Amino acid sequence: MAVSGSRQKADLKVVILGSSSVGKTSLIQRYLSGHFVENRPSTIGAAFSVKQWGNFKVAIWDTAGEERFRALSSFYSRDACAAILAYSITDKKSFEELQKHFLCLLDHARENCLLVVVGTKSDLIDEDGRQVEFEVGQEFAKQENLRRNDYFSTNEAKASTAFFETSSKTGENVNELFQFLEKTLLSRLKGSERDGVISLDRKTKSSGGCC
Ligand code: GDP
Ligand code: MG
Repeated sequence: MAVSGSRQKADLKVVILGSSSVGKTSLIQRYLSGHFVENRPSTIGAAFSVKQWGNFKVAIWDTAGEERFRALSSFYSRDACAAILAYSITDKKSFEELQKHFLCLLDHARENCLLVVVGTKSDLIDEDGRQVEFEVGQEFAKQENLRRNDYFSTNEAKASTAFFETSSKTGENVNELFQFLEKTLLSRLKGSERDGVISLDRKTKSSGGCC
C-alpha cells in the first residue's frame, strides 16, 4: 500500500467491478461530479480518481468489464481494501457474471476486503422490468461478506447492509453508498493506524485458479 507524505495519511484503494455497461463509470462520476451522462463511451482498461475520506486519500478505480480487460481488472484489484460489485437490476446475466467472472478478481485484494454489492439503474425497473430481486442481491452481499470479511464476523444483519440499489440517473442511493463505504472503512481503520502506517490486514488471498 502506498503511504502519502504526511504521517497521518495513507492511500487506500477502492475498486469497482462488474460487467460492461452495468453503469460503473456512471456511478463513480455521479458521486464525484453529481452529473449523469447518457450514452457514455466505454471505459478502456481502467482509470482512477482520488477522493479525500477523513485523513485518507482514497483512489477509486474504475475498471472495464469486458473480458479482454479482466486480467487488468485483477491487477487493479490488488491490495484493494474495498470493492464495489456492480450489476444491473434489469439484467440478470450481469448479476450471474459477478459470481462467475468478477469475485475471483478479488483474490489479490486485501484479506478482509469489504464488498459492497450494488444493483444499478433502479430508475429503469418500471420501464424494463426487474430481473434481480432486492432480497437476492442483498443475500449475495451478506453471504460474500460473511465468508470473506471478519469485520462482520457472524453479524448477519450488519453484513446485509453492504447492499444498495442505485440510480446514477436520478442519484438515488449514490451518496448513501459512498457514505457507507467511507464510514465503514474509516471505522475499521480507526485504532489500527500506527505512526502513519495502516495496519489493515495487508495479506492477500492466495491466488487460486481464476475464471
Ligand atoms: P460501465 O460500462 O459499467 O462503466 O457503464 P457506463 O457507466 O458506461 O453506462 C453504460 C450505459 O448505461 C450508458 O449509456 C449510461 O448512460 C447508462 N446508465 C448507467 N447508469 C445508469 C442509470 O442509473 N440509469 C440509466 N437509465 N442508465 C444508466
Ligand atoms: Mg465504464
